[in-house]
Amino acid sequence: MARIGSDIKHVIELLNRNQLVGIPTETVYGLAGNAFNANAVAKIFEVKDRPSFDPLIVHAPDLNRVGEFVEEIPEKARELARSFWPGPLTLIFKKKQIIPDLVTSGLQTVAVRIPNHPFTLKVLESIDFPLAAPSANPFGYVSPTKAEHVDKQLGDKIPYVLDGGDCSVGIESTIVSFEEGDTTILRIGGCKIESIEKIVGKVKIKPYSNSNPMAPGMMDSHYSPLTPFEVGNLNVLIEKYKGKNIGILSFDKYYEYVEKSHHFVLSEKSDLSEAATRLFTGLRHLDNLNLQLIVSEYVPDEGLGRAINDRLKRAEAKRN
Ligand code: AMP
Ligand code: MG
Repeated sequence: MARIGSDIKHVIELLNRNQLVGIPTETVYGLAGNAFNANAVAKIFEVKDRPSFDPLIVHAPDLNRVGEFVEEIPEKARELARSFWPGPLTLIFKKKQIIPDLVTSGLQTVAVRIPNHPFTLKVLESIDFPLAAPSANPFGYVSPTKAEHVDKQLGDKIPYVLDGGDCSVGIESTIVSFEEGDTTILRIGGCKIESIEKIVGKVKIKPYSNSNPMAPGMMDSHYSPLTPFEVGNLNVLIEKYKGKNIGILSFDKYYEYVEKSHHFVLSEKSDLSEAATRLFTGLRHLDNLNLQLIVSEYVPDEGLGRAINDRLKRAEAKRN
């Protein structure tokens, strides 16, 4: 197991030696390494068992530092950065040479974010390089929203996890690109599309799929529990699987059918932000119960509900 704690100085030492560390952010915990060092970046892919065609997000402490490794920041990107950074928004820019090709899976663009967590911002301000950091979970599995999640899954492969408490957003960042003058959402996430459109007007939403080359790494199947998982009308699904040992992940209501510990309600007060912070914890909890099946339902498809539904849909998709 890795050491878990709040020793920021130790984290900085490890990163300076090109070692990897689990770091807290407001979205999910990251597996961080020196983004300018190809060896550190290679370790990230190895520890996560992540395919090399799935590019990483690079984290910086402020816009000036972003300027050190991207070619240009379009005006619309600047407006979004002013409104939402630090926060759950990732922007795609043309990269400078200093970013190794491994980080971007050979693309000439790089994904960048300023995360909103005091510990991680402190770390980023104290080092001379940005941090490449995908979610700190084995590739394809549910993302970690607590330090213990990271330790449980990757603890034997990394020396330290910086414990910054539970993630306050709990779902990955929204990804936006600016290619050919369009503002395009490549991944629906913790920054609401409605809020983005208030700043830059109507945006395009590129539906993610295995065959959409604009959004590399956006697999149909992702965020998946190991237990079979099905989403639909819960009354219908519960009836269909009567007699089986099932778990229920619901939005705001209890269904009498299973015992309480096999039932995870995302938000009793029907609050989509609360539901987002609890989604991955709920999936993990049910996945650990050795059930035959987990059934779930979509939440209202607005605000953060769109990001939650996106995760539910991909958790359901069959791994291939
Ligand atoms: P995560 O695994 O949550 O760190 O998210 C990384 C995701 O960001 C990848 O799976 C891609 O979908 C996306 N991404 C990273 N870099 C780029 C890029 N240069 N262009 C488009 N999408 C990118
Ligand atoms: Mg991930």
